[in-house]
Amino acid sequence: MKHVVITGANRGIGLSFVKQYLLSGWQVTACCREPNKAQELKVLMAKYVNLKVTELNVTDASSVAKLAQAKDMQSIDLLINNAGYYGPKGVRFGHSDVEEWRRVLEVNTIAPLLLTESLYAGLKASKNPVLAFISSKVGSMEDNSSGGGYYYRSSKAALNSVVKSLSIDLKQDQIRCVALHPGWVQTEMGGPNALIDTDTSVIGMIHVIDSLELEQSGNFYDYQGQAIPW
Ligand code: NDP
Repeated sequence: MKHVVITGANRGIGLSFVKQYLLSGWQVTACCREPNKAQELKVLMAKYVNLKVTELNVTDASSVAKLAQAKDMQSIDLLINNAGYYGPKGVRFGHSDVEEWRRVLEVNTIAPLLLTESLYAGLKASKNPVLAFISSKVGSMEDNSSGGGYYYRSSKAALNSVVKSLSIDLKQDQIRCVALHPGWVQTEMGGPNALIDTDTSVIGMIHVIDSLELEQSGNFYDYQGQAIPW
């Protein structure tokens, strides 16, 4: 049975990934900050024996270390670094707050690399490992025509840079890496006016992950498989 580890799995896009991989018969490790409050994961747990819900705060080193030590982390076929944080909205030039920016960078940029490093042994143990990073088109320089969004944009642009380097460093292990733009998705972050629902986004991203060749490792695609310029 293939094993997927998903961060930020209690709601939004992460929860939809959990559902889709359960339907496909994978062993799913759903990571979230507060498993006790994750009602939808609890419902799924009653139905699927192949679902494990694990506590993980991606910015807490001891939480990451505890996850990495768990026995079922010895083999990971797919790690989906999905947990994300937008930070305060509408911050204008002249009003930057270092602490807030740092918080966004910690969740969106630093945590995905540190978690990947911690789970590296398990990824190497898989026959066909993939690392998926949920990025955002707003991290694309070419896409930026409206300015602003300093914290979130910079965190996702830096994440894309992390993904590119990982694709080069981990090529020797045959680990494929991809940065994915999920589309504008109806979640707490995306808001109610977003264009697509979580399942449309996630089914699309799973197709991109499934068809990713080693030569495509390090690239940036949207949920429909369209390459996004840096
Ligand atoms: P949500 O706001 O609905 O969910 C965010 C998830 O990240 C929650 O599970 C949240 O957990 C988790 N999270 C935040 N901080 C931490 C942390 N320190 N440790 C562990 N988990 C954490 O967002 P989406 O589902 O929309 O976003 C998922 C990903 O998609 C993100 O990376 C986001 O940047 C990206 N994205 C989303 C878009 C959209 O339109 N929705 C567009 C482009 C990219 P908790 O419930 O505990 O807060």
